[in-house]
Amino acid sequence: MAQRTLVLIKPDAVRRGLVGEVLSRFEAKGLSIVAMEHRSIDAAQADAHYAEHTEQPWYPPLREFAVSGPLVSLVLEGDEAIAVVRLLNGATDGRQAAPGTIRGDLSLSNRENLVHASDSEESATREIALWFPELS
Ligand code: ADP
Ligand code: MG
Repeated sequence: MAQRTLVLIKPDAVRRGLVGEVLSRFEAKGLSIVAMEHRSIDAAQADAHYAEHTEQPWYPPLREFAVSGPLVSLVLEGDEAIAVVRLLNGATDGRQAAPGTIRGDLSLSNRENLVHASDSEESATREIALWFPELS
């Protein structure tokens, strides 16, 4: 059963020239790109995307990071895509993420960790509607 998930290639990855590296891992795994956009976001879009986190003490610097430069938003599709992309991304903190994962290989930070991916079917539905309303 094909499943869709919302992915962000965050501003740190764009700044570091890692968009191709990150995308190639998703493509090599067999996931399909359903939609993709290079864009910048404002604070309101960051707050909507990270609605579950806006009360966290670490949220204000996360928002600053999210709006700090362009990112790439995309929808990936494939068998169990939500769980598969979370596995490819690795643990949230790049310092603790397993080698072989995107964060484990390429990030040394718990904030600037290169990628976002939906964590459940409910999140994927909400996030795809937020970033790509034309797909919903
Ligand atoms: P994930 O992106 O792995 O789903 P969370 O949903 O818990 O992780 O957090 C969202 C994002 O907030 C993370 O990807 C990271 O950029 C940032 N973040 C999470 N926890 C912290 C923290 N303790 N300090 C700073 N930034 C954090
Ligand atoms: Mg999350």
